[in-house]
Amino acid sequence: MKLFKKILIANRGEIALRIIRACKELGIRTVAVFSEADRESLHVKLADEAICIGPANPQQSYLNIPAILSAAEITDAEAIHPGYGFLSENPHFAEACITSGITFIGPTPDNIRIGGDKAKARSILKRKGIPVVPGSDGPINSEEIADKVVKRIGFPVIIKASAGGGGKGMRIVREESEFEQAFHMAQREAFAAFGNGELYIEKYISSIRHIEVQILADSKGNVIHLGERECSIQRRHQKLLEEAPSPALTEKQRKKIGEFAVRAARAIKYRNAGTFEFIVDGEGNIYFIEINTRIQVEHPVTELITGIDIVKEQIKIAAGYELGLKQSDVKINGWAIECRINAEDPERFIPSPGKITFLALPGGPGVRVDTAIYPGYTVPPYYDSMIAKLIVYGKNRQEAIRRMARAIDEFMIDGVKTTIPFHKKLLNNPQFIEGNYNTSFVEEMNSSNLPKEVLQSV
Ligand code: ADP
Repeated sequence: MKLFKKILIANRGEIALRIIRACKELGIRTVAVFSEADRESLHVKLADEAICIGPANPQQSYLNIPAILSAAEITDAEAIHPGYGFLSENPHFAEACITSGITFIGPTPDNIRIGGDKAKARSILKRKGIPVVPGSDGPINSEEIADKVVKRIGFPVIIKASAGGGGKGMRIVREESEFEQAFHMAQREAFAAFGNGELYIEKYISSIRHIEVQILADSKGNVIHLGERECSIQRRHQKLLEEAPSPALTEKQRKKIGEFAVRAARAIKYRNAGTFEFIVDGEGNIYFIEINTRIQVEHPVTELITGIDIVKEQIKIAAGYELGLKQSDVKINGWAIECRINAEDPERFIPSPGKITFLALPGGPGVRVDTAIYPGYTVPPYYDSMIAKLIVYGKNRQEAIRRMARAIDEFMIDGVKTTIPFHKKLLNNPQFIEGNYNTSFVEEMNSSNLPKEVLQSV
């Protein structure tokens, strides 16, 4: 078996760099694609070749399947890594790669389809004995069914879009009188955002932790997990800080959640890297919520505590290699934390694009910065506002927190507003330091000084 000679990276920003780095270390040549707004981007400078695929608007560039496939053909790239976001979870793109004779570095189109249909994933895994949050069995097609489900599980409920993602398309309903209107609004929103108005319902559980498990699966049927990540520091259901392991799990729960994820991956014949997301309630019950069929933003925390390079594993699996690791080879060591640095106003979480006039990045022992910014770089307004990931490793949680507090103090950036002040506040919060938090924590922490309109959207 041979690894690829050349890979095209269908993405931008830090994840494009992350993939270029893995390729370079594996001796694989790289092709960057870029929009007209990204001409001066680092991924363009660092790849062996670079091709402009269209204007700034992502629909015409990073989401433009024909342009990306032509770029791969022109450059003789044998495989495409989609990163996260953009086309990474588009089954048509994965299929188009395959029919063009190009390897898609990721799961199978069927895996992606199941991951993209959250109601279906729920019912498949429920049938396979994986616990899911009480709720509808599959999508809700009529008001009578919705009524029945709601009567069975009781309020509050959370209405979710089958095709939803990124924390969008969810609506919490606390009382029966609000349900009908909320359901219709959710349907309209889901249709507008995802082109698919299909909804399902889950019991809304308060005081939960979001804990997810990283999976690796090869094409020979070997499946392992790389432990869990704690992602309960969220705002508007979007993650801001992640850590691994989770400070909340007992050893017994840790083992159980890992086994659920492996069982779930086997049940759907999952391939490549993926994440099975769960929520854990106040009593320690574990419920599956969804599958992410891509490399995730927060993958580095797992890399730091396992010593496994997940992106290299993705490439090797896609090339047909058998996993070189058994479950018993995966050893969790120490503690890792990641802070997402977004170009945003930290008070209002509103994007703050612009030119970076000064930049000094943190360093020193146990510090990793995944970013594509540099002094003089202009953060464009067209794409996601995350501009850097600051990741630290410590021998235990206390050391990791102290190291992060030290490193984030070293992170100096002028010209754009960032979420750094938010993280500084969080790292000093006694409850966070104790590991005593759930998914409502950020809203509670901020409720004293956030403008009302921001809080209402939660
Ligand atoms: P998305 O695909 O948009 O990321 P998820 O289904 O993964 O949506 O849910 C995102 C977040 O919403 C979770 O991390 C959790 O904070 C919250 N959430 C999801 N389901 C429930 C639920 N049943 N009860 C309470 N909170 C939930």
